[in-house]
Amino acid sequence: MITVMKFGGTSVGSPEALRRVAGIIAGTEGERIVVASAMSGVTNFLVSIVENPLMDYKSIREQFVNKHVSAAAQLFEGEAMDAFMKEMDERMEAFDKAVNSDRNDPFYKDGVVSQGERFSTLLLAHVLKGMGVEAKAITSEDAGIVAEGHPLSGSANLQLSESGMTMNVTPLLAMGVVPVITGYYGVTAEGRPLTFGRGGSDYAAAVVANAVSADVLEIWTDVDGFMSADPRIIPNAIKIEEMNFGEAAELAYFGAKVLHPRTIEPVRLKHIPLKVKNSFKPEEPGTLIHHLRKPKNELLRSVAAKTDLSIITISSAEMAYKPSMVARILDLIAETDTIIYSISTSLSTVAFLVHSNDVKNTLRKLNCLTGYEIERIDVKNHVALICAVGDNLLGKCGVSADIFSAVKEANANVEMISEGASEVSLNFVVPMSKVIDVVRILHDKYIGERDDA
Ligand code: ASP
Ligand code: MG
Repeated sequence: MITVMKFGGTSVGSPEALRRVAGIIAGTEGERIVVASAMSGVTNFLVSIVENPLMDYKSIREQFVNKHVSAAAQLFEGEAMDAFMKEMDERMEAFDKAVNSDRNDPFYKDGVVSQGERFSTLLLAHVLKGMGVEAKAITSEDAGIVAEGHPLSGSANLQLSESGMTMNVTPLLAMGVVPVITGYYGVTAEGRPLTFGRGGSDYAAAVVANAVSADVLEIWTDVDGFMSADPRIIPNAIKIEEMNFGEAAELAYFGAKVLHPRTIEPVRLKHIPLKVKNSFKPEEPGTLIHHLRKPKNELLRSVAAKTDLSIITISSAEMAYKPSMVARILDLIAETDTIIYSISTSLSTVAFLVHSNDVKNTLRKLNCLTGYEIERIDVKNHVALICAVGDNLLGKCGVSADIFSAVKEANANVEMISEGASEVSLNFVVPMSKVIDVVRILHDKYIGERDDA
């Protein structure tokens, strides 16, 4: 039985948190692989370094070392402290090299912002050793996690990562060692660190789980699990005990910040169940995400909202008869790395839902649309996407009518709809001013008064 256990920044953010987490690992049976984020605040600090070239290196280094050594001083004594400091010093050499290398190198930022994980894993491995658990801190380079793609937004190559980890990590398990691996990044074919985007340690852990065909992936964080709605809006939101992969992927993508949205795919591919657990309340069951198709009567499991979006509508007569035009528009938007949350087409228009921050860039690109007769481009700001998630949503007759009649109660005009593209969610756009009312009404109607949740 192999359990991959991932701990986030706050779970390794202080000496007490590190001890608590080590206790959780020590108390888990079978073979364990640990993946950890940087201590909380550390990645933000590293990002500030790459963004301010004028910062004084001596003070940067001092702050970074202090953060980790002061935690170590509260955790280790005597020989244990010496052993930690020896490895800490070795890793600081790599830190110096990364920060002082050529800033114009496209992977410079990845090399710096990925430093935090190298030190949190070192601390955690040493705490485990102090508890009598044979543990070893391993970097993504040494583990063989292979990444590809653009700087700061890499993706793992699952096949190559599987071969790498089978060679470098699996033998440690057979020897009874608990590998403690850096989250957040992998290495390119050229051996350079490439990060998976902010919050990417969850994804890294899923990649590790996929590579070793783990029996379960546990994501240990500082909340109880996925909720039926954002508790800041809906105080009586309830914790979701079970979900299938599709539901979790939609929720992670469109609203809840519990899990990095890319975490689902690597584990779904190998049918590895995923548990979201609270490291501050380990006795709580958390949320279990797997291939569940349990017949349940509930219509909705959760309602999420993504705010600060805009709709860009492009009008041109006979758009429907010129498919190359839609393709060209998509190509242009893709060049700006803008995420499109929804698309809707009609005879003479195509509408895209994007984040409001991306509107300017997108419009600038769309100005290159020549050779087509564009009549108008309209932008509607201050809209939000409501994502109603439940695995019973599609097969039933009258569901949309029912949901939209609830939306009508909020007096909200539906600006755009996406239904049928996903099996487990009904997504639609409403004005920002109506978001809270719509979420509240849907939650009250379908979830709040249910007692079997
Ligand atoms: N430490 C990285 C970040 O803060 C990765 C992670 O925590 O998932 O984004
Ligand atoms: Mg996170």
